[in-house]
Amino acid sequence: MFLTKSIYKRTASILRTEEAGERRPETVFRYNPRAKKYIIRVKAEGVFVTIPYGGNLSYAEQFFKKNEATIRQQWEKYQEKNISKTSLSPQQDRDLRCEAQRILPLLLERLAREHGFQYVSVRIRKSRTRWGSCSSRKTISLSLYLMLLPSHLIEYVLLHELCHTVHMNHSADFWALLDRHTQGQSQALRRELKNFNRS
Ligand SMILES: [Zn+2]
Repeated sequence: MFLTKSIYKRTASILRTEEAGERRPETVFRYNPRAKKYIIRVKAEGVFVTIPYGGNLSYAEQFFKKNEATIRQQWEKYQEKNISKTSLSPQQDRDLRCEAQRILPLLLERLAREHGFQYVSVRIRKSRTRWGSCSSRKTISLSLYLMLLPSHLIEYVLLHELCHTVHMNHSADFWALLDRHTQGQSQALRRELKNFNRS
C-alpha cells in the first residue's frame, strides 16, 4: 500500500495548491435582453448571474449577495463532484502527467502480478471522458486524471481494466470476476466512482 499512499499525498498537494490560489467561484454578471428575470447559474468554471431586460448591475449584485451562502455551498458541492472537470493550469496538467506516467504503470504491473492478470502494454492518455480502457490486444489505456482520485478508486479502475483482459464486455461474468478481485465491493466502488464522474 506504500505506493498508493504516496499517490494520494501528492494528489492532495496539487489540490491544496489550487485552494491556496483561489478556491472561490469566479462571478460573472452578464446582460441578456431576452431574459425575463435575474438568474444565477452555478457551473464548474464559476457563477453566472444573468441580468434581464430592464435590469441593472447593482440590483444583480444585491440579488447575488442575498443568495451568496447558498451559491457558495452549491459551488463547493459541484467542485467536489466534478473533480476531474476542474480546470488545471497547463503546468498542473504537465505535473499530473509526469506523476501518472511514473506511478500508474508501476501500480498496474503490481496489481496484475498480485491478481494474476496479463496485459501487453499500458498507455497514459489525457482523457476526460474515460478513466481507462482495454483493447482486444490487451493494451490498457489510463487517464492521467486518475491521479485526482483517492487511491482505492485508482485501484478499482486498474482492476476493472485488468478484468477486461479476460472479459471484453460488462457481462455478468465480468462483474463476478471483478467482484472476486475487489472483495465483493465492485458495485459499491463503481457507485463511488460515479460521484467523481466527469459528466
Ligand atoms: Zn469496463
